[in-house]
Amino acid sequence: ARPIVAIVGRPNVGKSTLFNRIVGGRVAIVEGVPGVTRDRLYQDADWNGRKFTLVDTGGLDYREDGQIISNVRKQAELAISEADVVLFVVDAREGPTGTDGDVAAILRRTDKPVILAANKVEEFHKPNELYEFYRLGLGDPLPVSAAQGMNTGELLDEIVLNL
Ligand code: GDP
Ligand code: MG
Repeated sequence: ARPIVAIVGRPNVGKSTLFNRIVGGRVAIVEGVPGVTRDRLYQDADWNGRKFTLVDTGGLDYREDGQIISNVRKQAELAISEADVVLFVVDAREGPTGTDGDVAAILRRTDKPVILAANKVEEFHKPNELYEFYRLGLGDPLPVSAAQGMNTGELLDEIVLNL
């Protein structure tokens, strides 16, 4: 079986945009579909011939606040159990939030590789905002722009290096 790479993170950080960027637009994402199993979207991907299955965690993101947080936690637990590599996406423009901290606390407990992607970085001359993410305790944040495709090649290099 192909190794599994699971994307986790709180709502609106750009997980689905990144998913689409990596799988190359081969799938259209229907958001807000209820139900735990249908909430997860699997798609085969490869980078330089290295094949893996990418998992997007969506849908349930769009419920009321209390529900959102517990779902993000649940998705993080699920990612740890099923994935070979966890891709944790945060929003560089907003900085680390309490929910990011909750997810990070869960991800710090696994021995599996966790890659921290700081999304929505379209201006590389402003690196200061990235420093805040070191407090999540997951190593270096990798700046990317899923929307613009900036640095996503470097992110994929990092992913396949950890497969
Ligand atoms: P998800 O809830 O984590 O799956 O986030 P989405 O992929 O649905 O994106 C949430 C919002 O962030 C949308 O309005 C996207 O257009 C926007 N977005 C995603 N990636 C980027 C990015 O790299 N840069 C900017 N500026 N906006 C982005
Ligand atoms: Mg999504």
